[in-house]
Amino acid sequence: MNDVTTNILKTALKTLYYTRLDAALAPITQGAGVIFMLHHVQPGRPDPFAPNRILSVTLEFLSTVVEHVLEREFDIVSIDEAHARMASGKIGKRRFATFTFDDGYRDNIEHALPIFRRHDVPMTIYVAPDFCDGKGRAWWVTLEKVLAEMTSIAVPFADGERVLPLTTVADKYVALNEIYPWLRAMPDAAIHMHVDRWAAIARIDPFAACRDLVMNWDEVRAAAKDPLVTIGAHTMSHASLAKCSSDQARWEMAASIEHVEHELGTDCRHFAYPYGDAGSAGPREFEIARELGLHTAVTTQKGLIATNVSDQLTGLPRLSLNGDFQDERFVKVLLSGAPFKMMELAKSALPRRRAA
Ligand SMILES: [Zn+2]
Repeated sequence: MNDVTTNILKTALKTLYYTRLDAALAPITQGAGVIFMLHHVQPGRPDPFAPNRILSVTLEFLSTVVEHVLEREFDIVSIDEAHARMASGKIGKRRFATFTFDDGYRDNIEHALPIFRRHDVPMTIYVAPDFCDGKGRAWWVTLEKVLAEMTSIAVPFADGERVLPLTTVADKYVALNEIYPWLRAMPDAAIHMHVDRWAAIARIDPFAACRDLVMNWDEVRAAAKDPLVTIGAHTMSHASLAKCSSDQARWEMAASIEHVEHELGTDCRHFAYPYGDAGSAGPREFEIARELGLHTAVTTQKGLIATNVSDQLTGLPRLSLNGDFQDERFVKVLLSGAPFKMMELAKSALPRRRAA
């Protein structure tokens, strides 16, 4: 999600919260349900330089959201039950909510699962087998460690190499804001090449950095034994699929599904597209997911689940509970669906204004 979209959604949230218009709009905007997206659940205060904290919610916030969703008379259901409801098109009186976690972080089991057990409600975790095998690299984790560790960094931008200072926390955030979008525009192999080179200079092992955070297969198998937990796939290497060739994208998806099935001995019918924005997963990937027989595949495109999505089950939107929107006041407003309608209207107005 880019800054413009985030800002539009935040403005819509504030407007709706203070005007209370969300309640009036809810009957026409709330849809059939919601798929929540999370990554980390972590207690405590972050270090001063912790940009990936944006991917994290606190235990208290997650607990509050689960309680709020139950009070709002949603059925909190497994992704299989959500699929059954969406595929049948039979939307009952009660809306459904599904909680999903990307990447397979160990804190999902340490901190999130106890909350779900307390309420006896299910959760889904999407894992990338290379991560669980200990041979994956979460480059955004490595990059954070590199920037935290180093006092300057040489970046070979297209218009020439520049050395960015990393002396203060503010310097580190300025550098990150330049480096991150520059990297994200590249193919995955080029991202890893740059980040691994910096990691070598900073004496950081990118594979170990990933292993420290992500569950191994023994932990995934233990989690999967809990009837409240569904394990889905998330590509083999956490690939940005739209940047891959068609064959490569298909392999990343199919191999990850097979690998999860092999490790767990059960069917894997659910998938999350890494990064999940429109630049990382689109109609080609949605079609591959259909051909692979997946029941659902989720993006990170923001939205609730509309009442008629039976032909869009491999390109489903989610509602992020990540740091950007970690505000209890706004969860209620988000669940009305009204902010997304406002965002749609605002976005459709933007190009017209530019063209005028
Ligand atoms: Zn991911």
